[in-house]
Amino acid sequence: MKTLIEPFKVKMVESIKQTTEPERNQFLKEAHYNPFLIKAENILIDFLTDSGTGAMSDQQWAAMMQGDESYAGSKSFYRFESTVKEIMGYKHVIPTHQGRAAERILFGVALKKGDMVPNNTHFDTTRANVEYNEAEAVDLVIPEGKIPEKIHPFKGNMDLNKLEEFLAKHHQSVPLGMITITNNSGGGQPVSMENIRETSRIYKKYKIPFYIDCCRFAENAFFIKKREKGYENKSILEISQEMFSYADGCTMSSKKDGMVNIGGFLAMNNDDLALQARNMLILTEGYISYGGLAGRDLDALAVGLKEVMHEDYLQYRIRTAEYMGEKLLEAGINIIQPTGGHAVYIDAKSFYSHLPPTQFPGQVLVCELYKKGGIRGVEIGSLMFGKKDKQTGEEIPAPMELVRLAFPRRVYTQSHFDYAIETIIETYKDRENAQGLKITWEPPFLRHFTAKMAPV
Ligand SMILES: *Cc1c(COP(=O)(O)O)cnc(C)c1O
Repeated sequence: MKTLIEPFKVKMVESIKQTTEPERNQFLKEAHYNPFLIKAENILIDFLTDSGTGAMSDQQWAAMMQGDESYAGSKSFYRFESTVKEIMGYKHVIPTHQGRAAERILFGVALKKGDMVPNNTHFDTTRANVEYNEAEAVDLVIPEGKIPEKIHPFKGNMDLNKLEEFLAKHHQSVPLGMITITNNSGGGQPVSMENIRETSRIYKKYKIPFYIDCCRFAENAFFIKKREKGYENKSILEISQEMFSYADGCTMSSKKDGMVNIGGFLAMNNDDLALQARNMLILTEGYISYGGLAGRDLDALAVGLKEVMHEDYLQYRIRTAEYMGEKLLEAGINIIQPTGGHAVYIDAKSFYSHLPPTQFPGQVLVCELYKKGGIRGVEIGSLMFGKKDKQTGEEIPAPMELVRLAFPRRVYTQSHFDYAIETIIETYKDRENAQGLKITWEPPFLRHFTAKMAPV
C-alpha cells in the first residue's frame, strides 16, 4: 500500500478550538506579536516544540497505575533502571526531572573554570550549563551541517579532523567530550554510526570520557538503519545498543524519545563520578531512586523507552517531516534539507525576501501562520540569536532566519499536517503583504520568550 497510516488509533480525545481570523488578530495584538504569550487554548495546532508535548499510550497510562511511590528503592525505579540498562548499557542510572538537570549535575561534578567541552553542536541548555561552570562549549559539526540547502545523509556528524586538531592542542583542558544525537540545533540531523565510532576512538586516544546527549536516540537509530550500509537488517534496539557501546555515559531528556511529558536521566560507568553525581542529586533533585520524579513517571518512562523503538512508529514519525518538506519544496518554499527527525525548518529570509533581518522575517512568519491558520511555530533567527552592538546599540542579525515547526509525538494526524501545509502555502502566496516587526520591549537575556513587538 502506498498510504502510510498513523500506527495507532484514538481512545481518548482532546478538543482543539477553532477561532476566526479577526479573533486571532486580536490575540496576537494582546500577545505583543509574540506567540509565546498566547494562551494555548487559542492555538489550533501547536508546533512550538516536541519537548514533553507527546501523547502517552494506553500501556503507559496502565503502567502509571502501578507506580510505586515509596521514597527509597521503589519497584518503579528498578523497572526504569533495568530498561535504561538494557538499551544504554551503563552501570549507573540516575533519574532527574528533565534533561537540563542531568546536564547541570554532570557538568557540576566534572567541569571546572577554564575547561572546554567539544560537541557536534551543543543544545542551548547544554551550552548554558557548560558556561555556568565557567567552561567553554565548542561546536565542531561538519561544514555541511551549517548549509541549509546542502543534502547530506548525516548532517549532524562531528568534523573528525577538527576534533583531532582541537584535542591535539587542548586535550588537557577537556575533562569530557560529547556528541548530540540527533543534532537538535542543526535541524534534528542524524549522526552516523561510523561517526560515533570514530569520535569515540579520538576521545579514547586522549583518554577523554565520552558522553552522548541522547534525547532523540531512537530517531537517530532509525536514520542509521535507513541510510547507513550494514544496518538495514538490524533492529532499532541493536543499533541503539551499538551507539551507546562507544560512549562512557549519556544525558537524556525523556521529554523527547522517552515518550513522556516530564523526566530525564544521567547514566555512566564511572563509579567515582556517579557517587559525586548522586550526592548532588540528593542535594537538589531528590533521593537517588526518584530524582525529582514520581514513581508513576518512572514507570511511564520505562514503557515509553521501549515504544519509541517500534519501527512502524519511527517510520510514521520520520515520514511525516519528510512529507511536509516535500509539499513545501513543491510550492517553492525553502526549507532545511533533508528534513530531520522532529521538525521542519522554513527559511524565512527567502520567504520574505522584501524584509530585512532587522525587521525579524522569522517572527513575521510565525505571526502570519498564527493569523492565517491558528498554527504556532517558533522563530530561530535574529529575535532568538541576534545581538546588539555594544557601542551603537544597533541590532546585529543572526546568520539564519528560520521558523521551526516541531512535531509533538503521536498527537497530530495526516489531516492536521495537510491543513498546516495548506496554511503555509496560502501564507506564502500572500507574502508581499506581510509587514515587518520591531521590538518595543525586551528582557536582558533569552529575549525571544517574553519580548514585546509591534508592526514597523
Ligand atoms: C531538550 C534537549 C535538552 C534539554 O532537555 P530538557 O528536558 O528540556 O531540560 C538537551 N539536549 C538536547 C539535544 C535537547 O533536545
